[in-house]
Amino acid sequence: MTEGIVGEFLALKDETDADLLAMQCGDFYEFFADDAEFVGEELDLKVSQKSSHGSSYPMAGVPLSELTAYLKVLVERGYRVAVADQYEVDGGHKRAIERVVTPGTLLESTDSEARYLAAIVAESGGYGFAVADVTTGRFHATELDGDELLTELYRFGPAEILPGPDVRADDDLLTEFRATDATLSLHATDAFAPGRARQTVDEQFGATTVSSVGLDDAPGAIRAAGGLLSYVDETGLGVLASMTRLQPYDTGESVALDATTQRNLELVETMGEGGRSLVDVVDHTVTSAGGRTLRERLCRPIQDEGELTRRADCVDALAGEALARERLRETLGDGYDVARLASKAVSGSADARDLLRVRDTLSVLDEVAGVIEGSALADSPLADVVSQPDRAAAAELVDELADALAEEPPASTREGGLIRQGYHDELDELIEGHEEALDWMDGLAEREQSRLGITHLSTGRNKTDGYYIQVGNSETGEVPEEYDEIKSLKNARRYTTEKLSEREREIFRFEERRGELEHELFVDLRERVAERAELLQDVGRALADCDCLSSLAVHAVENDWTRPALVESGIDIEAGRHPVVEREVEFVPNDLELSDGRGFLVVTGPNMSGKSTYMRQSALITLLAQIGSFVPARSARIDPVDGIYTRVGALDELAQGRSTFMVEMSELANILHSATEDSLVILDEVGRGTATYDGISIAWAATEYLHNEVRAKTLFATHYHELTGLAEHLDRVANVHVAVEEQGDDVTFLRTVREGATDRSYGVHVADLAGVPEPVVDRSRDVLAKLRAEKAIEARGSSGESVQAVFDLDSEAFRGSTSADGGRQSRDGESETTPDDDPDSSLDPETEAVLEAVRETNVAETSPVELMSTVEKWQQRLSDDASE
Ligand code: ADP
Repeated sequence: MTEGIVGEFLALKDETDADLLAMQCGDFYEFFADDAEFVGEELDLKVSQKSSHGSSYPMAGVPLSELTAYLKVLVERGYRVAVADQYEVDGGHKRAIERVVTPGTLLESTDSEARYLAAIVAESGGYGFAVADVTTGRFHATELDGDELLTELYRFGPAEILPGPDVRADDDLLTEFRATDATLSLHATDAFAPGRARQTVDEQFGATTVSSVGLDDAPGAIRAAGGLLSYVDETGLGVLASMTRLQPYDTGESVALDATTQRNLELVETMGEGGRSLVDVVDHTVTSAGGRTLRERLCRPIQDEGELTRRADCVDALAGEALARERLRETLGDGYDVARLASKAVSGSADARDLLRVRDTLSVLDEVAGVIEGSALADSPLADVVSQPDRAAAAELVDELADALAEEPPASTREGGLIRQGYHDELDELIEGHEEALDWMDGLAEREQSRLGITHLSTGRNKTDGYYIQVGNSETGEVPEEYDEIKSLKNARRYTTEKLSEREREIFRFEERRGELEHELFVDLRERVAERAELLQDVGRALADCDCLSSLAVHAVENDWTRPALVESGIDIEAGRHPVVEREVEFVPNDLELSDGRGFLVVTGPNMSGKSTYMRQSALITLLAQIGSFVPARSARIDPVDGIYTRVGALDELAQGRSTFMVEMSELANILHSATEDSLVILDEVGRGTATYDGISIAWAATEYLHNEVRAKTLFATHYHELTGLAEHLDRVANVHVAVEEQGDDVTFLRTVREGATDRSYGVHVADLAGVPEPVVDRSRDVLAKLRAEKAIEARGSSGESVQAVFDLDSEAFRGSTSADGGRQSRDGESETTPDDDPDSSLDPETEAVLEAVRETNVAETSPVELMSTVEKWQQRLSDDASE
């Protein structure tokens, strides 16, 4: 066994499952052995060798005062670091691990975004989920199915995840959660056990809370919550008390917005390099808590009309009151992140400056209320926002803090200077004595100069000499007898006197007692603030709400947005715009009409004409309306949707490796399963990731299913021009297209969405314009013509008949009811179509189809595995056909 300090380090390291251990040795935190090598690399620290009992070990250290900064770096890179502190005990010292700092429990977050820790357990086929932000005390628990869980993980983007014992770290779901920067941490199995977890939750939130918030029948939520609380407790952070309320949430209340959709709509992050997300564009908040609220709302639109009306009423009032709004924002900007300060007070890490910030922010609440009450905003629901927190209790705390705290306290809480005079009698006496002694000291040099006639005489204080009198060499001959020399410098000598030493001892005594007493009084005060964590969180929420709503008003006013009307059915947008694109280009506004009789739009138009933009703007306008915001449109009437689903199968997605055909299809499957009649579905080029015939078949069938079964409001952009024919046969389908204008060889993108389908594909034309060599362009025209020939597809309605009409790709027209039209019945009774008008064809239709598929397959864009299985399918089809 290794002995000595390194042995102690290794023994402590054995006690913890943290990745690294920092152990206090006097004024430093040291890492030894492997940990030293590791942090040497990661933190660029100097690694030296420490000899201990005949062996030599690598050692790297950081000064006490710098530990936090280094910890932050390590933790943000995903490591868990145990910290062992050193204590004085009789005849020496001992060391013990006091806390473990982990990515989800890093309290010293300077980042304005929330920092979440999540726990997940498997429970009766679904999952229990709990999530907390230790920096603000937010805490939620719920039960979810797999897809919902993924959505929530995306929404929160936790820094650290605790999988319960029944969730494997390689669980498909966690693997699928692609935000790989979350650290997975294992926590004691029994903390997630039902009984133990329930006990933990009851102890934390009170025995009746679980029932009162309706989580009685949610054992998974309780297990996750219990596990999470116990983990936070074990990290030794001391913030448990800041988690004052258990907030259950029902994902059913919010609008379903799956992970893919959050990404596709670029709500908080962009998909590619550069570019701006929605939040980048609309965020004008002046506080970090306000910014967090805005972000959260964007990722969690709601359906509750009451709440939507409340928020929109506030935005409306703020938009109309420019002066009050600006004063409000200015005032809000003087506040601090009070929810985080509450957590710091609870954990005992808040210093006197933090408590002053609490005081100032509580006063901001009063000022904000004053601004609102003194303006036309008083008649808006904004007045209720600021009267929600207990203002009397807040005012009381402001007074208490104002009475107690000095105006410019130091960062240290141990050296005095924290507490104001008049707050505590004994302290006042100490301060008086102390000041008096200091005054005596301050005047000493002047008194001695005039008493002794020595000009080069000064006084000073340092660590080794304490207080001293210093006389220049030229005059040292004139110092009186009572001066005791204590040091000789190059140009001067230092002396002390009996009187000086006495005063010095007095000052030191005052300093020590004052430091102790002030620290004690300060800690008391901090505890009283911690006890009011819930009040501080209420205040934080109210201010954040004001900030978020003002930000929406600012954006609405600056960009000429309008208040959407909430209606009972349909979506009707007049002159709508894309909130992000409108900031970047001269935007051409477009209308959208989705109603009961017109619920499905097939959107066509050449590449780059603006199809995706049009569809995304429609989704974003709906989403903005459902966070209570104004929207970029001349007018908008929206029946709140219960979910927004998007799927983009566009080629550039595939080419950039962001998608595979498999992913595209599983996402389509998810939409077809989850969307309802009240959802908004956006499909962009779905089916593009595979060969044409596969793709068109899937697009066709998905259209029918969405139209007939799901009946969701749908926008479907497609380059399969064939789909436009469906409008004639499915009653709720309509065609729109993004118009272009052709003049000679010029194609001008008009960006205008018009009724009806495009008359043809411009792809070849664009290739021609782009300078693709003529033989290739000519040949493309031939191939296109050939592809358009020969094939036909039937359209199915909801009535249950298998076939209604056959679409002829050659004439681009339906040929009426099929059964009378040569469609042949196959073995399974489904109708198939034949290229009945091609007398030259010597091949049977199946072989022809396979050949076509071979021609269509883009080898460069198909993965080898996919290719192999495709070829196998072709072989199968050919041999089936031969054996018929
Ligand atoms: P598509 O989906 O048809 O390929 P996009 O929607 O990606 O086309 O649009 C291509 C580009 O056209 C966008 O990057 C955008 O800058 C511009 N654009 C699209 N719609 C509009 C519009 N309504 N007004 C102005 N520019 C637009």
